[in-house]
Amino acid sequence: MVDVVVIGGGQAGLAAGYFLRRAELDFVILDAHAQPGGAWQHGWDSLRLFSPAEFGRLPGWPMPPQAGEGFPTAGHVVDYLTRYELRYDLPVRRPVRVHRVGRTGRQWTVDTDHGTWHSTAVISATGTWHRPNRPCYPGQATFTGQQLHTVDYRRPDPFAGQRVLIVGGGNSAAQILAEVSTVAETTWVTARPPRFMPDDVDGRVLFDVASARTAAERAGLPQQEGVSALGDIVMVPPVLAARARGVLTAREMFDHFDSTGVAWADGTRWACDTVIWCTGFHPDLDHLSRLRLTWQDDHPVTSGTRSLEQPGLHLLGYGDWTGPSSATLIGASRTAKQAVAEIRDYVLEVRSAPVS
Ligand SMILES: Cc1cc2nc3c(=O)[nH]c(=O)nc-3n(C[C@H](O)[C@H](O)[C@H](O)COP(=O)(O)OP(=O)(O)OC[C@H]3O[C@@H](n4cnc5c(N)ncnc54)[C@H](O)[C@@H]3O)c2cc1C
Repeated sequence: MVDVVVIGGGQAGLAAGYFLRRAELDFVILDAHAQPGGAWQHGWDSLRLFSPAEFGRLPGWPMPPQAGEGFPTAGHVVDYLTRYELRYDLPVRRPVRVHRVGRTGRQWTVDTDHGTWHSTAVISATGTWHRPNRPCYPGQATFTGQQLHTVDYRRPDPFAGQRVLIVGGGNSAAQILAEVSTVAETTWVTARPPRFMPDDVDGRVLFDVASARTAAERAGLPQQEGVSALGDIVMVPPVLAARARGVLTAREMFDHFDSTGVAWADGTRWACDTVIWCTGFHPDLDHLSRLRLTWQDDHPVTSGTRSLEQPGLHLLGYGDWTGPSSATLIGASRTAKQAVAEIRDYVLEVRSAPVS
């Protein structure tokens, strides 16, 4: 029996571990990956942070700068997270996959492929990478080309000489379009016109906006606009280069597939070899299905990270619904701090409650 089981050892789980240690709670972090680094192990080869290392820090120890040009690579982030859990001696068990979370009275039961843990509280920090959103369109099954998602994409070379359709209006779509268009003929489609951030906005500005929003929330001031008010796409150097080449123009979503490509409502068609769906992710929460949580807007209802229905359950990371920018390195720290403060109070309350 431990005070807290943390499910997921990516950045959100590690940030929680840091604060749990400081709160002197007894905890374990269970992570399905064989290696540290969470989803940062899976991005495409050229993936980099939107900002310098110091704006990607977890609590306690800032990410060291990466030698050389540009913002840190995904590999550098993996290295940082690996060293981070060693530095704070965080009790991460891996690979351990949680299958099911249940509760009896005030005790949580966490069933895994390596046994069962019992705890007073549970933090779910399983991210979104393994629940890609794959939309369905009429005729899709008849399309004979290949269909990939962001999670399948590594580098542009396999698409050399092809005709590639990129779907989606976010950073993944813009960055993948930027590099695939250097070797292939591309068409970009988005559900609404793409919203580019100003050229001089990078992770530093996003951090400032998210911080101002958090400060306003804490002071009880009216809600400020979040980073999404600035746009959806950060103009990183490859995306700027794509704009200069004239490939950063999007068409509206097509209407349906046929065997060789896609067709729009106005009758135009585009034959293609590959479709890359850069259409985002859902929270990876199958392990909580037994709890029958109420979902709204693609996630369980919470107040910040705290489940409104299950005392002692917190959801960390995932997206803005658990706190401003909580799915970023720096945002994860802020939300983890608040979550652990609430969990500590809850654990102390349970400890002092009379045994029934
Ligand atoms: C293209 C792209 C660019 C990004 N750029 C930036 C950026 O510049 N700056 C920034 O701060 N953020 C950026 N992010 C966002 C963010 O930092 C990552 O999405 C981040 O990996 C989320 O961390 P996490 O800990 O919530 O989830 P993850 O990193 O996905 O970690 C979750 C962990 O939980 C484990 N897990 C899942 N299910 C189970 C289970 N049932 N049992 C046990 N373990 C389980 C997984 O194995 C994994 O290790 C970017 C994201 C993307 C997709």
